[in-house]
Amino acid sequence: MSNIILTGDRPTGRLHIGHYVGSLRRRVELQNSGEYDKIYIMIADAQALTDNVDNPEKVRQNIIEVALDYVSAGLDPAKSTLFIQSQISELTELTFYYMNLVTVSRLQRNPTVKNEIQLRNFEASIPVGFFTYPISQAADITFCKANVVPVGEDQLPMIEQTKEIVHKFNSIYAPENPVLVDPKALIPEAEACKRLPGTDGKAKMSKSLGNCIYLADSADEVRTKIMSMYTDPLHLQVSDPGHLEGNTVFTYLDAFARDEHFERYCSDYANLDEMKAHYTKGGLGDVKVKKFLNNIIQEELEPIRERRAAYEKDIPEIYNILKRGSDAAREVAAQTLSEVKQAMKIDYFEDIELIRAQSERYKGF
Ligand code: ATP
Ligand code: MG
Repeated sequence: MSNIILTGDRPTGRLHIGHYVGSLRRRVELQNSGEYDKIYIMIADAQALTDNVDNPEKVRQNIIEVALDYVSAGLDPAKSTLFIQSQISELTELTFYYMNLVTVSRLQRNPTVKNEIQLRNFEASIPVGFFTYPISQAADITFCKANVVPVGEDQLPMIEQTKEIVHKFNSIYAPENPVLVDPKALIPEAEACKRLPGTDGKAKMSKSLGNCIYLADSADEVRTKIMSMYTDPLHLQVSDPGHLEGNTVFTYLDAFARDEHFERYCSDYANLDEMKAHYTKGGLGDVKVKKFLNNIIQEELEPIRERRAAYEKDIPEIYNILKRGSDAAREVAAQTLSEVKQAMKIDYFEDIELIRAQSERYKGF
């Protein structure tokens, strides 16, 4: 069996460090590992429209932002197919057929969607498209027969839903020769990377919540955001014992710090455990920890920022990359859709045997 990756992001804003540790950094490693036959990276504009119906311009503008973040972070169009969801009309067709395999009550149980409905004040009236987006995500994952989907933890219910659709489809329509491939989620190992909190320490860092450090932020913006980050409200004096639980600065250090960073920027400690021990004992101030975090994040973001500045000089080429990727993705989607329609027995005009058998039936009349 081939090893195929699909993953993507909604063009609702620039990508942030939550995307980076949750998914983007991993994608680049997987891309460069040479272990995958195909890698599809999708800009999910159609999905973004499900909760931005009145703001299509926002989605349109952010396509280029997300694409710039991709190539700047190291996704290479020669190795990965970068494409735009809405340009693959086969995806909506697949979604339409998959809808018959899912019940309303099953969709209502999806914990991520439940949470997002609350955040968007959709409780009184949910757009049907938004409510059903986990089904369209199943189309996104299955069109290219992806078996690996690198995502953040909030996406696990979507992969679960996709697996159910795949099993149901195959068992009803293709029990002998399964058409759809069962995907596996690849989530980050480190707890902090699974769902990076926002700089406000409250919810997950999320484009829609305005609590983000963006990959494209300037060095000054990053520093200002880090220096005003939420830490431990009980840690008033440097000598006070500090708490790590819910302390966002330490959560970010969990996601970013490596032992080598201590050598470079904070040689009082050999590693993060030593720093944490001092903080909980008392005697280590927030400002020192924040400055250390700032150094690390700047080091990680600087090369991405530099590459972005270069790519920004040739925007038409970015659209060309997306066009080429979308053309390639469409070809694959058309092939899968034709297999799906054949399995569902809705391939009337291609089925010569059907036409022959029907004409036999009517010969006697
Ligand atoms: P929106 O608010 O519009 O939903 P978002 O910031 O949640 O935007 P998505 O485009 O929905 O971003 O998510 C893209 C990918 O990034 C998904 O795999 C998701 O799991 C991952 N991701 C998003 N936010 C985080 C985060 N804070 N920590 C870890 N992974 C994240
Ligand atoms: Mg999201």
